[in-house]
Amino acid sequence: MKRIIVHGGSGKWPEEKWEKAKEGVLEAARTGFKYLMETGDPVEACTRAVMSLEDNPIFNAGTGSVLTLDGRVEMDASIMRGTTLEAGAVAGVENIKNPILLARKVMEETDHVLLAGEGAMKFARSMGFEHYNPITEERKKKWLELKKKFESGRSTLPWHKMQELIKKHPELLSGTVGCVVLNDEEIVAGTSTGGVFFKLFGRVGDTPLIGAGTYANSFGGASATGIGEGIIRVVLSKTACDFMRVGVSALKVAEAVIDIVNSTVKLDAGIITIDRAGNIGFAHNTPTMPVAYIREDEEFVYISKEEKG
Ligand code: ASP
Repeated sequence: MKRIIVHGGSGKWPEEKWEKAKEGVLEAARTGFKYLMETGDPVEACTRAVMSLEDNPIFNAGTGSVLTLDGRVEMDASIMRGTTLEAGAVAGVENIKNPILLARKVMEETDHVLLAGEGAMKFARSMGFEHYNPITEERKKKWLELKKKFESGRSTLPWHKMQELIKKHPELLSGTVGCVVLNDEEIVAGTSTGGVFFKLFGRVGDTPLIGAGTYANSFGGASATGIGEGIIRVVLSKTACDFMRVGVSALKVAEAVIDIVNSTVKLDAGIITIDRAGNIGFAHNTPTMPVAYIREDEEFVYISKEEKG
């Protein structure tokens, strides 16, 4: 039994970008599924799907990542194998093309789970990752616009409360990417992001935190998106996998954990899930979340509840 599901970030995608976002997630799911069929390796399939999303500048991961308060890109990523609970993650990495590949190197080449900042960069260079600037003109323009807006607002640091900032600018959140793959017995999950726009330098979200942004065990896998500050506090992805462990299906689980977010931290969130029986689920409390999934007999692509009717 083979399954793959990917997401392109919960948030508020402007309508003129819906088609491009849907094309992007479908292309990534197809890429991952192709590798899954050819190699039977869910780690490779998950990596390839996430790389496809990282390389697509419309998503907030890899190329096209959003900028920090001081105009740089600090990216986070993680990957986890459900059968062995091996995991790898990186936080706050700059100037590389594919953070998911670096997270995978941490999983496969080190005894650690999470490398951050300068140390992660040193590791990247010694693993042969070349210097690459992921900042796109569009993100730079947006950053300059925002900077001007905030500066002319006279207030010195009105954006220190991320929650308020995101409420005023929900469009800034869309774009983190993630993938869950099932290959017969094994489930793998991975997530990659540029984080949230205008974040403070050094801020680490949920994406590289195993259990929050990504989790997989032998019962299920999950990849989350939304405001990391909420996702971390409800340990969203691990909670989803715990529910799958007690037999709740992936679809119900996705809805249940978003309900938990809604009744506790009350912040934007979305999740994709697959359980070991092959059920696929996704849910979000934001207006949009591009999702594509593929199984042997079906290809499915989605962006908003509104569009579905
Ligand atoms: N969860 C990501 C973070 O907080 C952002 C997102 O999903 O858009 O870094």
